[in-house]
Amino acid sequence: MWRICVVLLGVGLLAGCASSRSPEQVAVLGADVADLRERMKELQEQVAELTASREVAACRLPYRTGAGLLSVGFPISPKRIPASGNVNVAVLFVDFQEAPALQGGTATDDEQTLIQEMFVNLVFGAKTYLKDMSYGTFDVTFRPLFRWLRMPHSLSGLYADSGTSLGQGISRFMLIKGAIGLADPDFNFEDIDSVVVIATPEADSIRRANALLSPDWHFYPDGQTIGNAISLGSSDWQWPGGFTIAHELGHNLGLPDLYDTSVKLDSEGNLSDEADRFAGVFGLMADSSSHSPAEMFAWSRWQLGWLRDTQVACVTSFPTSVQLTPLPKPGGIKAVVVPLTETTALVVESRRILGYDSLLRKEGALVYKIDTSVQSGKGPIVVGSVSKPPDDSALLGPGEAWNSDGYSVTVKEVTPEGDLVEITAP
Ligand SMILES: [Zn+2]
Repeated sequence: MWRICVVLLGVGLLAGCASSRSPEQVAVLGADVADLRERMKELQEQVAELTASREVAACRLPYRTGAGLLSVGFPISPKRIPASGNVNVAVLFVDFQEAPALQGGTATDDEQTLIQEMFVNLVFGAKTYLKDMSYGTFDVTFRPLFRWLRMPHSLSGLYADSGTSLGQGISRFMLIKGAIGLADPDFNFEDIDSVVVIATPEADSIRRANALLSPDWHFYPDGQTIGNAISLGSSDWQWPGGFTIAHELGHNLGLPDLYDTSVKLDSEGNLSDEADRFAGVFGLMADSSSHSPAEMFAWSRWQLGWLRDTQVACVTSFPTSVQLTPLPKPGGIKAVVVPLTETTALVVESRRILGYDSLLRKEGALVYKIDTSVQSGKGPIVVGSVSKPPDDSALLGPGEAWNSDGYSVTVKEVTPEGDLVEITAP
């Protein structure tokens, strides 16, 4: 009888058996049922993930750019920092004999307060931003060393930016190596994943933020191997909110630049609008978005595992309609992906004046094209837009459509719950 009851419990027929049991036995059986239901739910989720993983395989475009250190393709390079759980980032402040941050030899109370304010303004917002973009699954812990580290060599001789990207890479490598060496006696690097070095704003020959990406450049403090690092220059101090650090951490996570890196800096160390001709105001890895709020593309979040396969609709038969939910809200389908070739796909997602897209003036569906054969900074993501650089006029409202490669994306309905989009093929 007992065995029969347990079997029956498994199919949810508790009432018929429990009537002949004591209250203690009923409580035990109730707990068994709760466990079984929990286990069933987990199994159902695993089956859904496995099914989805097969269904999206055609849309999971492989990277086709060199070693894939930064790419819009799959998989993300294992040399980059993990994209889930907790990641620890050291934050070090440096100054130079020719560009001292301090008036005297040691920091006054005001100078000490200033360095802490700088940390809050420049760095701390990146933690909240990346936690929100990952729907709570990625947590950065910044570990600041609140004092100015005086670099051992001259600013102009070793650390200043040079004309070539290799020269600048070597200068930044020496800057970060020197800062780690100075901090090491007072700082435990044992579980550090990445290091941010912030140069005093007085050091104006170190200009823009930079993420160190060479597969061969590592630091080894306290027995730790650190292959990801970031440095901030004098022009970054004008952009509070932590978006610049979040952009550079995006590189540490393996994401490429979505602005045109061939555009030259102006005399202030900034880029013209021309640099944002590919992705405009959308996506953290565009230039303007690294200065002000913007939601990250659904595609980038899928690459990082922040969107699950069950949240991506890989469409290969047409016409098809898909209900998309707004990007900032957790849950639901976040992206329609239409594979075009082995390296290209169209993506559609739903944008709202919500979260970090609060500066948008229009809501609707956004269409963009992925090309995993295009390198970082050369347009691996291009937003479908008449305006260049793309702005919020690229968002499709009810009845509006965007055509690309013979495919047509039409928004059938826009509600607070999202966008119903229809895709037709050539
Ligand atoms: Zn960048």
